[in-house]
Amino acid sequence: MGRIDKDGLDEIILVGKKLYERGLVSATDGNISVRKNDDEILITRSGVCKGELSAEDILVVSTSGDVLTGRGKPSVELPMHLGIYSVRKDVRAIVHAHPPVLTALTMTGVNFNSAWLPEVWLSVGPVPTVPYAPPSSKELADQVTRLITNCNALLLERHGSITVGRNLSEAYYRTEKLEHAALVGVFTAIVSGKLPGPLDQEKLRELERLFSVRSS
Ligand SMILES: [Zn+2]
Repeated sequence: MGRIDKDGLDEIILVGKKLYERGLVSATDGNISVRKNDDEILITRSGVCKGELSAEDILVVSTSGDVLTGRGKPSVELPMHLGIYSVRKDVRAIVHAHPPVLTALTMTGVNFNSAWLPEVWLSVGPVPTVPYAPPSSKELADQVTRLITNCNALLLERHGSITVGRNLSEAYYRTEKLEHAALVGVFTAIVSGKLPGPLDQEKLRELERLFSVRSS
């Protein structure tokens, strides 16, 4: 993926296409945002298919939630995005998707574990699950804002995923890697009858030493 252009529009359109084509969202699900500067973010419009975004579907919104440029309503999950940007100054982009395997695992009572695979642990780190709250609710935004302070990804019970990054590529690839790892976990369960266990603490510390700790 190329660098973010001046307004970040091209890369948001590209990531929307990838999310849709890889089945990480369906219909008009999901939302994408990029921090433009200290006072403004770019966010996808509500109710549009992420596989068919155009520049008009991306709005400039202030950090207090006012639409500054563009027509239509911003994503209903805007409060969740603004909450994350308010507590994570290092975060420049956020991807919210509905990946089917990750979402299925939130309903099994067996949590997904990013420590199943070494590279997923290194590039994403721990991935807590947020207990169910209605989509777009203040309750959900508050829980996400509280939990994201210590991690780069969250799963939302019966709903989907949130990944953050220092740029949009990083946020998007974290979603893709997590869904891929979830699929590996489910294949393991099909073959062996149970989900894999995580790498133990000693092996995780060894990985972090070897790769001098994951970014952001
Ligand atoms: Zn959603």
